[in-house]
Amino acid sequence: MQPLSQTHKDKLVDTFKDLGVCDQLVEACENLGWKIPSKIQAEAIPQALDGKDLIGLAQTGSGKTGAFALPILQALLNSPKAFFACVLSPTRELAIQIHEQFEALGSGIGVKCAVVRFWPKLLVGGVNMKEQIKNLEAQPHIIVATPGRLVDHLCNTKGFSLRTLKYLVLDEADKLLNEEFEKSIDEILNVVPRERSTYLFSATMTKKVKKLQRACLRSNAVKIEVASKYSTVDTLKQHYCFLPAKYKDCYLVYFLIEKSGFSSMVFVRTCDSTSFVALFLRNLGLRAIPINGKMTQSKRLGALRRFKAGECNILVCTDVASRGLDIPSVDMVINYDIPENPKDYIHRVGRTARAGRSGVAISLVSQYQLQFFLQIEKLLGKKLPDIPIQEEEVLLLMERVTEAKRISLLKIKESEGKNSKRRGRDDDDDEGMDKYLGMKNVKSHKKMRK
Ligand code: AMP
Repeated sequence: MQPLSQTHKDKLVDTFKDLGVCDQLVEACENLGWKIPSKIQAEAIPQALDGKDLIGLAQTGSGKTGAFALPILQALLNSPKAFFACVLSPTRELAIQIHEQFEALGSGIGVKCAVVRFWPKLLVGGVNMKEQIKNLEAQPHIIVATPGRLVDHLCNTKGFSLRTLKYLVLDEADKLLNEEFEKSIDEILNVVPRERSTYLFSATMTKKVKKLQRACLRSNAVKIEVASKYSTVDTLKQHYCFLPAKYKDCYLVYFLIEKSGFSSMVFVRTCDSTSFVALFLRNLGLRAIPINGKMTQSKRLGALRRFKAGECNILVCTDVASRGLDIPSVDMVINYDIPENPKDYIHRVGRTARAGRSGVAISLVSQYQLQFFLQIEKLLGKKLPDIPIQEEEVLLLMERVTEAKRISLLKIKESEGKNSKRRGRDDDDDEGMDKYLGMKNVKSHKKMRK
């Protein structure tokens, strides 16, 4: 493992061209509004173009997708081949975002250079397998995949192999090494050529990541760390608010109303809480929408689309949504429930203050969650400031919040009743709830398909 050379660290880099990126791709970056390389890009791209393997420790939102996509695209421009690169991601959402960034950068190439039709394809669970087989038969250049589905295709899709692969990327490697993926990753590593470039990206460096690094990176690998291990970016203003647990909902509403022009993510502990919190916020006239791991893929994407489009400005989510999702302009993260694992805090607040922008993170700390919050401060190595708030002002909202919660509970009970009646007839288990959450368009899609 080579340390990053001092010259690269100290060199002032103004443009992508300075990094050795070719003109077509510089133009593609410009079209995306990427004028200056981010830190991880400035450090990773020259090394990658120099043929080195990479291990990148970078925060969410640091621009790491560009850091691996640009060198791959540049190599592809020089020698266009099918199944040239494969990017593995732990979640479908992240895979879709990586795919989108490849497509966005690649469309620039398409305009500039008709010979190289850049073509990434997605292989994730929850998306039609037959359609994916058709896509694979058409010999794409790049595959972005979740591990399980890729192994499925490697075993069952006639004529598909990764024997010609030149680049392998493992994104969010710390997550890819969870028990659920470990076997698939081993199987993939067994069938890809040894002679290849490998880029390993991870937000945190765990023992498992180190093991993987030893197993799959070449001796020329360069380690790039753009942030100290558990730090958060300077543009992020972090606060906590110590409050009695019984007033937590009031405080949540208070902050959301105070920052009503913001796009916000509210993190809660359970999937059911996402629906309940989103519902009572909606009953108060706030534009909230839930996203959680229990929702179907199409519903998750639907919720994300509505949030990205600004139709809803409050995304209520579990930790499933805290990693990897590319939501460009989140102004505020509220920890309604404090994460029990302090590393999750880093991932959550990483949803705001991205790519040099500013952001706010507020943790609502009750007496029951204080110990988790103290662990977070320990991990960050600093005390966070509290927000001075007049409790009387917050409690003015009490009556309205209580009423909104009461109505929400009634609606949930009603939808549960409807679902239990319907359950014998079909498998559509949460349509009632969708209606209350304003996700009717999802339902109508379903009807159209039927
Ligand atoms: P990532 O960390 O790869 O998920 O990227 C986070 C966000 O930053 C994405 O919305 C990218 O489009 C954006 N981004 C990546 N590189 C740059 C750059 N050099 N300048 C501005 N935005 C960027």
